[in-house]
Amino acid sequence: MAMIPAPAGTGIVFRRTDLAGRGVSIPADWRHVADMPMCTAIEADGIQIATIEHVMAALAGGGIDNLLIEVQGPELPIMDGSAWGFVFMIECAGVVELETPRRFVKILRPVTLSAGGRSVSLRPGEGFSIDFEVDYGAGAIAPQRCEVELVDGAFKNELSRARTFGFLHEVDALRAAGLARGASLENAIVVTHDGVLNEGGLRFPDEFVRHKALDALGDLYLAGAPIMGRFEGRRSGHKLNHRLLRALFQRRDAWCWSDSNAAASPSPEPKRVAGLRG
Ligand SMILES: [Zn+2]
Repeated sequence: MAMIPAPAGTGIVFRRTDLAGRGVSIPADWRHVADMPMCTAIEADGIQIATIEHVMAALAGGGIDNLLIEVQGPELPIMDGSAWGFVFMIECAGVVELETPRRFVKILRPVTLSAGGRSVSLRPGEGFSIDFEVDYGAGAIAPQRCEVELVDGAFKNELSRARTFGFLHEVDALRAAGLARGASLENAIVVTHDGVLNEGGLRFPDEFVRHKALDALGDLYLAGAPIMGRFEGRRSGHKLNHRLLRALFQRRDAWCWSDSNAAASPSPEPKRVAGLRG
């Protein structure tokens, strides 16, 4: 994959550059979400790009509004299962602040969805914050909760290194179904009933919930702009996060556009960074 600077107004756009993708461009937008298990994928003209959630989280966390991402193949590199590699790319390239004010999706009224013990909601709030809870019942992962306010550096320090995870029995079942063939201890935490298989252990005691918050941040960036408000997730996953965006945009009274010049601008003032340096 390659990150390529883009002018104001572009948004985040992915482009398949392999032969099968035929140079198709797909905006990273909730209207283009494809139905795919276990990850976030987008599609256009029958062409898909999968596993975009971790790079989307890195872009949301780094305040990148405009970028073209070229991908040679049907999915993004998994890296180490976290967003750290993408944060590293962004830092190496550098970020340019554009003249155009940043545009936000400002939450005006609460929007909540719940199903089968899972729930998600977006509420009005200053800046953007995430409050996430996981509970896998009895097992190696204790109930965990994480609250993060997305101010400067918070994504990089608190969330970006948290890795994706899977349960050993699920990994076996996925492999049997021909999926997750690239899954290994190098790119995921593998959980058994009494601990994790990875030799180095966990990067944070609550790495699991931090990763779920990272995923939610990436999924919500499919709003097409950063959200100004508070996200609350209880045992949520990609599908419910996507449904929440659809529900939000179906309720015209629940949100409005706001820009970083508006009087209602959140404090602390968000960075107006907006593209990668070439
Ligand atoms: Zn993930």
